[in-house]
This record gives sequence, C-alpha cells and structure tokens, in this order.
Amino acid sequence: MNSIEVRQDFPILNQEVNGHPLVYLDSAATSQKPRAVIEVLKRYYEADNSNVHRGVHTLGSRATEAYELAREKVARFINAPSPEQVIFTRGTTESLNMIAYGYARLQLKAGDEIVLSPSEHHSNLIPWQQVAKVTGATLKYLPLQEDGTLTLEDVRQTVTPATKIVALAHVSNVLGTIHPIKEIAAIAHAAGALMVVDGAQSVPHMPVDVRDLDVDFLAFSGHKMCGPTGVGVLYGKRKWLEAMEPTYFGGEMIDIVELYDSTWKDIPWKFEGGTPIIAGAIGLGAAVDYLTKVGMENIQNHDMRLATYAMERLSELSDLTVYGPKPGKTRGGLVTFNLGQVHAHDVSTVLDAEGIAVRAGHHCAQPLMRMLGVISTVRASFYLYNTEADVDALVHGLLSAKEFFQHAIG
Ligand code: PLP
Repeated sequence: MNSIEVRQDFPILNQEVNGHPLVYLDSAATSQKPRAVIEVLKRYYEADNSNVHRGVHTLGSRATEAYELAREKVARFINAPSPEQVIFTRGTTESLNMIAYGYARLQLKAGDEIVLSPSEHHSNLIPWQQVAKVTGATLKYLPLQEDGTLTLEDVRQTVTPATKIVALAHVSNVLGTIHPIKEIAAIAHAAGALMVVDGAQSVPHMPVDVRDLDVDFLAFSGHKMCGPTGVGVLYGKRKWLEAMEPTYFGGEMIDIVELYDSTWKDIPWKFEGGTPIIAGAIGLGAAVDYLTKVGMENIQNHDMRLATYAMERLSELSDLTVYGPKPGKTRGGLVTFNLGQVHAHDVSTVLDAEGIAVRAGHHCAQPLMRMLGVISTVRASFYLYNTEADVDALVHGLLSAKEFFQHAIG
C-alpha cells in the first residue's frame, strides 16, 4: 500500500489550512472520504434517488437493490453469516443503545451483572448505566493495567455466572489499546454471558471477522471508515436479533397493523423503522469496496507502523507524556499525549495554526481521564492516507507549541 498514492483519492487533503498544507490527524473522530464514495453518493442522488421497499417504479427498485446490495457488502466485510444480520443504524452510539434498550433492558434483572472497562467511550458506558438503573442489574469494571491493557486473568476473576453482558471496545479511542476480544468472548460465553463489542475504532482499521471472534453483537460507524456520516451498523447473532425488540416503531418495520396491536417484519427490517438511511448505506457500501480494494491488512500494518514511528519521534521531545501501551507494544493507529501542564486545547490551537488537525479534550471518556489524572489530552490518529511526513509535521508543530508555552512548561 502506497499512502502517497492513496492520498490522491481524497480530494479534501489537497488544501492549505492557515497557510500550511493540511495535515489531517483526526481520523479517529471522523475519517475523510475518497472520491469513489463521493461519486457514488452523487450518482445515487443524480440518477437513482427514491424511497426503498415501497413503490414498484423503476427508481424505487434501483434504490432498493442498491440499498440491499450495500447490506450484502457490509456482511461480507465483517464475515457475517448472512446479510439479514446487518442492521443499518445512525452509528455506533445508536447501535449500542439499540442493544441496551431492545435486548438488555428486557432480558436483565436485579442480581445480573454487566462487565465493562473504565476506558469505554461514553456510548458504550451510559447505555449500560441506564440498563442497570431500570433493571436493577449491577455494573462491574475490569481493572485496567497502567498502560490501559486488560489481563485475561482479571477478566476470568470479574466475569461470574451472574454476568449477562460483557461490553468492551475492541480498540480504545484514547489509548489505542487493542483488547483480545476473541479470548474475552470465550470467557464471557463460558460464563453464559453475551459479548458486545464496540468496533468504532477497530472495523475501520483492521480485518474484523465476527465469526472468528465469535462476538454476539458488534457496533460500528460508517463515517470513521471512509463512509458518509449518519450511517452505522449493528451486527448480531441471529438468535439474539430475533429475541431483540425494535427500538423505533412506525412505517416499514411492520408486518400487520391492527387498531390495538401490530406484528413486525423479520430481521433486519424490523429494526429499520421509517425511511432508512438509504444514501448513507449505499455510500458505506462504496467505502467497504474501497477499503477492501486497498486491503484491511495493509491498512492495519500501515496505521500501526505510523503509530510506532510517531511514538519514536515523540520520545525525542521532553515534557511530553504519552499515554497507553509503551513503545514496542501493540497499539492501534493513534497516539495520545499531553505537553507539560498545557491544556490540550491550547496545544491543539498552536498545531492548527500550522495546518495540523488533532483532537483535544476528554474524547468522550471522562472516567478514563480521571484515572489518568488529567482533564484532557491531545490525540493524533492515523489512517491510510497519512504518511511519515504528517508525523514529522506533528513533531514540528509540537516544538512550536513547546516554545510558545515555555513559561507554562517551566
Ligand atoms: N466508541 C468509540 C470507541 C468511538 O471512538 C466512538 C467515536 O468516537 C464511538 C463509540 C461513537 O461513535 P459515533 O459518534 O459514530 O456514534
């Protein structure tokens, strides 16, 4: 994979910001879109736009075919046993809420346990808090090692026969830690619990095979994997999806509607009430085609290589605290750090003046920030279009920030 060639596929990258070539290091927040995806969206709106699963006119059939084809593409991408197990949602947050509301809230009771890690993104934490409040179930947290990793021994100690759900991010959006989901799923299953995986930061960056991992549910977002905003996926094992209740009731998700009761369509359509995310799903299908062509293993190796290079280069800077797995340990394609006591927003503002886009803040992981003893961090995240030169620009920008804030660093 040649990231310099790949860059040419992303028109947005070809611009200056604040008088400098744009260096986009915020793909963990949202990725940029290749021309192939933009073109598919344009073509859909110019030629095929119509509602799906309704009319019998030609445009309606074309739109329906394209929408359902996108489902097949996504199913193949994650090796789902069937396209019906892929539900189009608005994103990871909605997918996780659907599991919490449509499944867990109805199945769990007082005395049951939900096991999480303290490094979860709020979207894989707050829905479970809500489930616990309504059902009387208890939340249990796995202990995190200092570098943000989990040990299987701790998982074995924490998961008990009372555990009904283990819900974890595959890759931490703050620390870049990659959790051993396959092994954790085996522990969860041995205890009779379901494995729910937040794949927001893994599905875009590495091959994810739901059958190999043997996960019960997987949630991810299209916009972080070269697709449009507003579309995501909920994958589930057939038996759990069939047991799960819809979250949205109304048009399109019904079989028969009577005055006082109604029945639902089969999966996946019972979960897609109202006009679905048609263009978004078709755009996600195009993104999956694009990523498959580049090769997910190539992308994974590339992102990890850049993260390793960034760790090396950042270690040259004094006054920088880098969080997460130490150099030499496996990490996803991101690095998170702080410069002395300087607020992450201030560091990010100086970087922006050099055209460098990074994320600064609590990254929707306030409990983790508290564990790290900080209120915010700076995160640089890499994707297939980033190069070593982008990391060099980041280091240059950080040297400027160090100079600018010398008085605060001391
Ligand atoms: N989970 C993780 C690990 C994330 O990084 C994110 C987004 O940053 C989400 C969940 C939420 O994704 P979305 O905002 O697309 O629903």
